[in-house]
Amino acid sequence: MTHRVINFYAGPAGLPLPALQRAQDELLDFAGTGMSVMEVSHRSKEYEAVHNEAIALTKELLNIPSNFKVLLLQGGAHLSFGMIPLNLLRNGRKADYIVTGNWAEKAYKEAKLVGGDNVRLAGSSKDLKFARLPKAEELNIGQDSGFVHFTSNNTVEGTQWKEFPKTDKPYVCDMSSDIMWRPFDVSNFGLIYAGAQKNLGPSGVTVTIIREDFLEMCEAQDLPSYLRYKIHAEKDSLYNTPPTFGIYLLRNVLAYNKSIGGLSAIEANNQQKASLLYGCIDKHPGFYKGFVTEKADRSVMNVDFFMPTEELTATFVTETKKAGMVGLKGYRDIGGIRVSTYNAVSVKDVETLVDFMEEFVRKNG
Ligand SMILES: *Cc1c(COP(=O)(O)O)cnc(C)c1O
Repeated sequence: MTHRVINFYAGPAGLPLPALQRAQDELLDFAGTGMSVMEVSHRSKEYEAVHNEAIALTKELLNIPSNFKVLLLQGGAHLSFGMIPLNLLRNGRKADYIVTGNWAEKAYKEAKLVGGDNVRLAGSSKDLKFARLPKAEELNIGQDSGFVHFTSNNTVEGTQWKEFPKTDKPYVCDMSSDIMWRPFDVSNFGLIYAGAQKNLGPSGVTVTIIREDFLEMCEAQDLPSYLRYKIHAEKDSLYNTPPTFGIYLLRNVLAYNKSIGGLSAIEANNQQKASLLYGCIDKHPGFYKGFVTEKADRSVMNVDFFMPTEELTATFVTETKKAGMVGLKGYRDIGGIRVSTYNAVSVKDVETLVDFMEEFVRKNG
């Protein structure tokens, strides 16, 4: 048996084993070509079938309305931080950004570089170390706003918008760390982007979902071609050589997601994992202390908590590793422990960790 660990890394993160095994089975002879998918032309019918299936499965799993395009791009969330203002903030169009964490702040700063005063801060919880989300009354969204940018899950801090921010403006959203954690209504979004490496596949693919009216805003004829959403949409994400192996693995993950019952089944698993973990934290308030201060804002994907001392934290990381669990050390700016429980992490994996946490309190509490 191949040795596999329980993977709680924040990203790149674990992938469903059947999606990897399928890649292993097909590695040397993909679709009867006698080649791996990495070795065939991106214009071949065999590759195109995979490409189109990845797009079709994204639409099906998220129940995406027909007035949206799904694009498979490169450059991660970082390139999207720049492409969004470059394409969408033309002709004096304005946008409001909600800053709720490390990544949201980066998105805001990058947009500012391009959009200047047309990029406005709608609200921020930075003064509170991002330990909760801003409340509705703390948001200031302009009547003249073209879109409201937010980050659906704050990967570093462990907060998540269970109910999206209240506004009648279209959303533009970074869903890198929680896309497909549950079903949701896509129709209020002008644009969604997600680097694949947290919840969808390997790094190198950025799933982008864009509404037709947002695509029409992209008049930017003076931008280099690769930076223009419209070109990618017109060419069905085959304008240049796409990251074929990444898209192939994305297809494997999405096909697996569908086979286990789609996003409702996945949500049920995710809720169960979160209630196991937060249940254990809340049961031992003198030992485990959650980073997030509002229970309603707690993320189902990234669970941050502290222990009484740095030594205990270090021991926890070392001993979990010995027990076959990796990736639990907190993000450098926050410290403590971060448990990332993306879709590929099973309820059983979390049960194993929670058993360990109970035992750890008994020994050290
Ligand atoms: C990981 C992450 C990013 C950074 O993604 P890159 O692919 O490295 O650009 C951005 N936003 C969120 C919410 C993330 O979790």
